[in-house]
Amino acid sequence: MAKLKELSGELREIYTVNSDEVLSFKTYIAGIWTSTKDLEEVKSPIDLEVYAKVPKLNYEIVDMALQTLYRKGRWEIRDMPGEKRLKVFHTLASLLEKFRQDFVNVLVIGNGKTPSAANGEVNAAIERLERADLDVRKLYGEYVPGDWSTESLEAEAIVRREPLGIVLAITPFNYPLFDVVNKFVYSTVAGNAFVLKPASATPLPAIMFAKLAEMAGFPKEALAVITVPGKEMDKIVQDKRIGVISLTGSTETGEQVMKIGGIKQYVMELGGGDSALVMADADPKVSAQKIVTGITSYSGQRCDSIKFVFAEEPIYDKLKENLVEELRKVKVGDPRQDGVTMGPVIDPKTVDEFEFAVKDAVSKGGAILYGGKRLGATYIEPTLIEIDKSKVKDLYLYKKEVFLSIAVLTQVSNIEEAIELSNGRRYGLDAALFGNDINKIRKAVRMLEVGAVYINEYPKHGIGYFPFGGRKDSGIGREGIGYTIEYVTAYKTVVYNYKGKGIWEYL
Ligand code: NAP
Repeated sequence: MAKLKELSGELREIYTVNSDEVLSFKTYIAGIWTSTKDLEEVKSPIDLEVYAKVPKLNYEIVDMALQTLYRKGRWEIRDMPGEKRLKVFHTLASLLEKFRQDFVNVLVIGNGKTPSAANGEVNAAIERLERADLDVRKLYGEYVPGDWSTESLEAEAIVRREPLGIVLAITPFNYPLFDVVNKFVYSTVAGNAFVLKPASATPLPAIMFAKLAEMAGFPKEALAVITVPGKEMDKIVQDKRIGVISLTGSTETGEQVMKIGGIKQYVMELGGGDSALVMADADPKVSAQKIVTGITSYSGQRCDSIKFVFAEEPIYDKLKENLVEELRKVKVGDPRQDGVTMGPVIDPKTVDEFEFAVKDAVSKGGAILYGGKRLGATYIEPTLIEIDKSKVKDLYLYKKEVFLSIAVLTQVSNIEEAIELSNGRRYGLDAALFGNDINKIRKAVRMLEVGAVYINEYPKHGIGYFPFGGRKDSGIGREGIGYTIEYVTAYKTVVYNYKGKGIWEYL
């Protein structure tokens, strides 16, 4: 059974243990650990066992939290000198290291990650906190001299960036620690208070991280973790006290939030799934290894997961053979077992959608090259489907992201056809190019309607050292160290008028 072991040290203060060994967590609301009568159950994707409960906050509690953050918290964080904020991030990085095993256990039970993937996520979160030092270089302003316009002679201005006040971060289930930490870092390093709404499927890393933030001395009234179901968020999303919404989630959720949220600043990291374009002169074995990692890592539940492979005719057969060979090496199962490389999918509904998408593809002429079957309520075989280029656009998979390990392989006559098929999707997150012909690569880089192109590598956003983000239905804005600062701050122009003071004597 997928039960969560008791946490260690101070983390024991934020939950109680029920008679059935289920841990009931409180959540952090502006310095107060809060519980409610009404609790939400949290299930493990490994076997759908309930392993924790979290408070289900009503609007009144959230309203009070926003009031505290708006009246006090946003000034407390702004009044904390930048170098002290950085020290808090460094302390947080050490605390994450200290409590690593607790976070790893939660990521394995709660997300179905393998221990190695869970450790990778903790590493990324630690590194993101440490790299906050690089964000601050984008927090400077500009000096604008006045003498380039007659109207502004004998004046000058400073254009500075300042925080927008409160950032509402809405995070997805798939990176419940890293996404939280990433949004926390760029929002608060810039001096914003932070309201976090974690995914209902995986809320614990956010709550646990709030405990570490409290321990690290982060201003109490500048942080709240609101455990509210997404469908009850409309009133909160509309709230004018919130200056920025930073959402990572599906395109459908992004559209809804922007429709309801009105005039605000938005960072929207939305859905997609990526294309790999394989050129005739690529190495078929190395490309196949990388593409299969791109298809199967974290069970394909990554926004930058590869969902389409478009390969030129001369390499097609060899690549196909190598892809199937690599897929055979993937071992599906309980991520706690040795040797398992692909764990479960977050919920049975997504697996139902997978079965629908496979049937749809086969009915439209697709051939299953590998996988295609459900292995349990939340388990699937990693799947590769081959289809002719004339039919690929009809597929459900082409029109809608199916968030697990399934990809489509199609032969193309040239790179232009591959680009056309890739750009034909409504998404535009990333693309991967495999090959050596610099002219073809350069042309593809120019033509692809995506936020990032990875050359001879599968798409991986990592800690955002290189910025990432989507175009078209994949989003607005960029996440990346030093880049997202732009979206969580506003310019303020300060004009100094010295007219007649004899400072400048213009001819
Ligand atoms: P999701 O269902 O869209 O949920 C994302 C978050 O939005 C959750 O916290 C969810 O809360 C919340 N939410 C849902 N409806 C809402 C509403 N009406 N108002 C406000 N919040 C709402 O996505 P997911 O299944 O967790 O994550 C997978 C998706 O995220 C995929 O589409 C993937 O491509 C995308 N993603 C994108 C990136 C990127 O960098 N571009 C990175 C990772 C993931 P509940 O959980 O309570 O419903």
